[in-house]
Amino acid sequence: MRAADYEAVIGLETHVQLKTRSKMWCGCANEFGAPPNTHVCPVCLGLPGVLPVANEEALRLTALAGYLLNCKVCAYAKFDRKNYFYPDMPKNYQITQYDKPSTREGWVEFEFNDSVASVRINRAHLEEDVGKNFHFERHSGVDFNRAGVPLMEIVSEPEITGADMAYEYLNALKELLVYGGVSDCDMEKGMVRCDVNVSVRPKGQTELGAKIEIKNMNSFSGARKALEYEIARQISVLRQGGTLTQSTRRWDDVAGVTEEMRTKEYAHDYRYFPEPDLMPFEPSEAWLAEVRQRIVELPLARKRRFMRDYQLPASDAQTFVRDTALGNYFEAIAARAKNPKAAANWVINNLRGKLAESGTTLEQLKFPPAAILELIELVESGKLSSRIAQEVFAETFATGQMPGSIVQRKGLAQVSDAAALERFCEQAIAANPGPAADFKAGKTAALNFLKGQVMKLTKGKANPALVGEILERKLR
Ligand SMILES: [Zn+2]
Repeated sequence: MRAADYEAVIGLETHVQLKTRSKMWCGCANEFGAPPNTHVCPVCLGLPGVLPVANEEALRLTALAGYLLNCKVCAYAKFDRKNYFYPDMPKNYQITQYDKPSTREGWVEFEFNDSVASVRINRAHLEEDVGKNFHFERHSGVDFNRAGVPLMEIVSEPEITGADMAYEYLNALKELLVYGGVSDCDMEKGMVRCDVNVSVRPKGQTELGAKIEIKNMNSFSGARKALEYEIARQISVLRQGGTLTQSTRRWDDVAGVTEEMRTKEYAHDYRYFPEPDLMPFEPSEAWLAEVRQRIVELPLARKRRFMRDYQLPASDAQTFVRDTALGNYFEAIAARAKNPKAAANWVINNLRGKLAESGTTLEQLKFPPAAILELIELVESGKLSSRIAQEVFAETFATGQMPGSIVQRKGLAQVSDAAALERFCEQAIAANPGPAADFKAGKTAALNFLKGQVMKLTKGKANPALVGEILERKLR
């Protein structure tokens, strides 16, 4: 069989730190970057005799994520202890939702290969993060600041068929969670990590191949590279007549390979049992209704709406999805604009550039959104050339003065007076006999040169369409 006769089956488990002020079971700050072991207390250090108290905001954010992922938000959820021993986990067990998660059975939609892909979500459950080990030359250390930070695990169904699709899925997930205020998803700070399950099988076979897990990847591009490598590796083993066994591997980003960590025989037995110190969580209808008020429009829905309601091209809509504040600003203008596309052009091409260049925010703008409407109107009615409109906008941006009054004060209005333009055209033809003769001889490009001369004479204020007409008439 050829390599192309195999297909990959991928499922992802994505861990996301929730955007809460405090940790999951105690009042310690959920804050990245503090000196080691400064955000710790007897609860998150797992000292004997302490009791966990569930962070309600973390429960709310998990339910909210469930709604955003089209999941059922369960009326009954409980916490379990997952027992294992590792230096970065002081309690020697992790509190997690095992058989009764907060949310289950949803889906996420995202753009992939010029269409919309959908991947079902098995569950999104709540658990806690562990500390972090550091290895030095002669010793190791553990920082427990991260221990007990609320962590949500989102488990997809094995419906992803390739490395690129996995990458787009992860990006969509991240965008959705940032939009919903569930997590900041800052990759640099390790707020998102994922485990990947991948197997391959001959196309057409329904039975799944041996499931191989790659653990703890902290970048989406790393996950994509690891999948590309691992899929090729598995196919090559099968094509050479080898067999694959269920195992766990590690991605070495420097070497660009996956390596075996352990096989099935050494798989953990976590000895799950219900956490005796926490009551099951049974949210009331009123509590859930409050969470539902925090549901936001999702990125893909926003993109489609911008394309539909304002007839914007996909690229403009995408800009307003990525930069929500800019998108909201555009909407405030577009609602009153005759030509929303023109408004989008001003916001994206001019306003965005000026904001970046001057380091200002939308809140600091000196002019009202109506100024952009006024500018569009001046250009569309032919009173202002689009080149001069740029200058007027720069001044409006700097001073807060409305475009109309700038145009009036500086006499920038476009010259559409035919009699006045005729004189300028005659002047340009007289001063440039060569190009004029060229045009008469059939070189149509010469007209643009003459047009440019008229624009120069009028300091850019001439109506270019009208100038073209007059020149052509005079040269014929
Ligand atoms: Zn603590």
